[in-house]
Amino acid sequence: MGGPASGHSRAIVQTAPRCLEMRELPLPAIGPEDGLLQVEACGICGSDYEQFQGALPVRFPVIPGHEPVGRIAALGAEAARRWGVREGDRVAVEALIPCGFCRACVSGAYRLCGGHGRMNAYGYLGLDVPPGLWGGYADYLYLDPHALLHRIDDRIPPEIATLFNPLGAGFRWAVDMPGLRVGDTIVILGPGQRGLASVIAAREAGAGCVIVTGLAADERKLSLAKEFGADHAINVEAQDPISAVREITGGAMADVVVDVTAYAVEAVNQAVGLARRGGTVVLAGTKGPKPVPDFLSDRIVFKELTLKGAFGVDYDSYERAVRLIESGKYPLERLHTHTLPLADAERALRLLAREEPSEDAIHIALVP
Ligand SMILES: [Zn+2]
Ligand SMILES: [Zn+2]
Repeated sequence: MGGPASGHSRAIVQTAPRCLEMRELPLPAIGPEDGLLQVEACGICGSDYEQFQGALPVRFPVIPGHEPVGRIAALGAEAARRWGVREGDRVAVEALIPCGFCRACVSGAYRLCGGHGRMNAYGYLGLDVPPGLWGGYADYLYLDPHALLHRIDDRIPPEIATLFNPLGAGFRWAVDMPGLRVGDTIVILGPGQRGLASVIAAREAGAGCVIVTGLAADERKLSLAKEFGADHAINVEAQDPISAVREITGGAMADVVVDVTAYAVEAVNQAVGLARRGGTVVLAGTKGPKPVPDFLSDRIVFKELTLKGAFGVDYDSYERAVRLIESGKYPLERLHTHTLPLADAERALRLLAREEPSEDAIHIALVP
């Protein structure tokens, strides 16, 4: 194993679509404004699989992984002051590394930062950008001076701590963006890790009725959704979701609809049909990219819907996620199905994408 003593870090490097290899990379020298994280666990995101397949505009070679949790192994004095952390502290690291100066950053929308002229984020910056250790599938991660960190309690198992990502998404996509209010009815399309996280976030925000949809193959996830507080779970292959929600709500339909399905273009039309007049639809699941057939924009006009696209999470939502994990209020270990070593990165990605159908994966973490 690598480490400060050896001066090296093991890392899973993607060299081409569906090509991963283990390499040893040198650890960088740390200056006053940056640091080094010893990775304890890295969550695997649905987009990691798209990256693995080559469906994202990422330049190779690259170390994937943008959901890391770990301990600070080295830290500059100025970085310690700015971040309010010390060596040995455990932190969760946000994916995006904002520039801090562009219009988006200054106005608080740092997710849309364009100051670097490209996607400046962990798991996406290539080995060609010094010092190269930009991915969470490794023993060590470079902490850029602009990285965003969240302290997280030592007592949380690291693989559970990586749930700060899906939970942060739940708070932003299901609560903040649509302005979910106490008593609202929310329909969540897709019962994957972000769908289940949206159930928890909606419950925390006081939703009156939480409805989740999925496929027949999602049976286990749909029953987990109910354990985490969903009032209804609909198998869309057995039941038309629009008539089901009409029945559940007495015709009122949903105040908020969140689409977190991946690749499922029909979910967009469903979302428009499920929202009440004047309701809000948040689109967060990406489609591959494929067009939505039979999309009737007039339905948005006549129903005066608000349609929002959600890209990433923000600092405030991540903070709420971390505090919720620390509270121990939910049995989050029920969401975490697999912990795998770095060397099994490819298997982890295939499990998440159901390429190995024997196991029902929800949340997976790689642990160096
Ligand atoms: Zn992600
Ligand atoms: Zn910026």
